Amino acid sequence: MTAPLPALAPRLPSPLTEVADERFARRGVRLLLKRDDLIHPELPGNKWRKLTPNLRAALEGGHRTLLTFGGAWSHHLRAMAAAGRLLGLATVGVVRGDELADRPLNPSLAGCAADGMRLHFVSRAEYRRRHEPAWVAGLHERFGAFLALPEGGSNAAAVRGCAELGRELRGRTDVAAVACGTGGTLAGLAAGLAGTPARALGVPVLRGGFLGREVARLQREAYGRERGRWSLDERFHGGGYARVSPELAEFAEDFAARHGLPPLDRVYVAKLLHGLTVLAAEGAFAAGSRVTAVVTA
Ligand SMILES: *Cc1c(COP(=O)(O)O)cnc(C)c1O
Repeated sequence: MTAPLPALAPRLPSPLTEVADERFARRGVRLLLKRDDLIHPELPGNKWRKLTPNLRAALEGGHRTLLTFGGAWSHHLRAMAAAGRLLGLATVGVVRGDELADRPLNPSLAGCAADGMRLHFVSRAEYRRRHEPAWVAGLHERFGAFLALPEGGSNAAAVRGCAELGRELRGRTDVAAVACGTGGTLAGLAAGLAGTPARALGVPVLRGGFLGREVARLQREAYGRERGRWSLDERFHGGGYARVSPELAEFAEDFAARHGLPPLDRVYVAKLLHGLTVLAAEGAFAAGSRVTAVVTA
């Protein structure tokens, strides 16, 4: 067994609770919430599942600095900064959009900075070069030795970490649905459910239609092949990452109030639950089935 990380001690398995929601009940569908938001106060949800295997490997490898990539509202950057503070590791965040360098930090980036993350703003054109060794060499010249984690923290170790989410749901649900950014969580969720009749459903919160390829690629990276049953419904991104319409905001407030939940994360969780509500109304789920929404934050 690998060393535990006391500062990141989790609450696992995360609670699974059924909620009475007439929009599902009228179709004979049971709605459950997988409360991954309760795993850890500072590294909630899928970020804990994705990052802890990587953080452990970093510490075991003797790394003192972690560098990663994200947009101005990236939850991953926020989680990495918090993890760095909790574990005493230095962190560098490479942020997409050099125009941001001259503006006051938004609350998300301000939180990263408060946790000690060094922010390095690059143009969108440069950001696209983040997989090129020559460009990364330039980052090493500037920041010295570091271990790099990909955007969203999605790599093979992260996918295998998220497979535990699927294993916790085996036999407990027919559909397991999750909001997707980079697809690593869905890749692991589906793998953890493989061999059961259950299927995983991903709701991308970004536009673009690139995610299916990514999920398959991440599974091959983690397991050498694709695993489990999964699909995407690309209709519920609401215009793009962190775009929140007044209707979605209202849906989120109403959903939390109905079920006595803390305010919903709007970037991911509200879009997922809204999507599931539409799908239920469309009759997409068989009567008698259990649909689990992963509350990732
Ligand atoms: C990062 C994040 C996701 C998306 O995870 P991916 O593995 O990138 O698809 C979903 N929900 C929340 C709350 C997140 O912070």
